[in-house]
Amino acid sequence: MTRRRLTAFVVPLVLTGFLLAAGGTAQSRQPTQSPVDISPGAIRFDPAQPRLEISYGHSDLDLEYIRKDTSDTNGCGTRNHEETEEAVVRPGTGHVTLAGVRYELEQFHFHTPSEHRFQGRADPLEMHFVHRGAAGKLLVIGVPLRAGAGSPVDHVLATLAPECGEPVALADFDLDTLLPRNRSTLRYQGSLTTAPFSEGVQWFLMSEQTVSPSTIARFRGLFGDGNAREPQPLNGRKLTVVPQSS
Ligand SMILES: [Zn+2]
Repeated sequence: MTRRRLTAFVVPLVLTGFLLAAGGTAQSRQPTQSPVDISPGAIRFDPAQPRLEISYGHSDLDLEYIRKDTSDTNGCGTRNHEETEEAVVRPGTGHVTLAGVRYELEQFHFHTPSEHRFQGRADPLEMHFVHRGAAGKLLVIGVPLRAGAGSPVDHVLATLAPECGEPVALADFDLDTLLPRNRSTLRYQGSLTTAPFSEGVQWFLMSEQTVSPSTIARFRGLFGDGNAREPQPLNGRKLTVVPQSS
């Protein structure tokens, strides 16, 4: 490449980069993926944020194994790191409201170890409650699980659904008892943690819930290599703490 041709090539490239940065669009092109490793320096406190109103009732549950390897002839015995145990709730039995927008609870599922980390530390398990708004926008509540006193979560994971078999039915389950009592949230904008990793997901992380050590051991026994995605770069994102009382 001659010098003149090189200049003709490089100058527009540099200019484009400068204009993007000046226009503020370069930042928005950074990926906003989940999960993330949360450092104290990335956290902001903002009690003025709209309250997340949680309205969970009672539902029959179907605990199902979510397969990602249906084309694999040995798939029934092979664990894929994007597979999980998922509890499907009955439509209309649970929802959350944020700033006047209602999001319906569709299902909740589990990862081991936890996908979100705090200063590099993972919990043994993490629960994700997936809600969808009328416009299709997703809102996920994440709850880390650690070993301790038994809780209603133990009942959900008492019998795990087989990868290729019937779902496990649980009748008339009180969904609200699955969440921790402290409803303070740590919020950020992220993505799905499994393919297609779609962005625009509103994440609400809550404080830890406890489960018995045997429940943790049973779930880890199913996913020996784990079923969690590695933390993704924050790329300048901030997480906002909104206390329960706001
Ligand atoms: Zn998940």
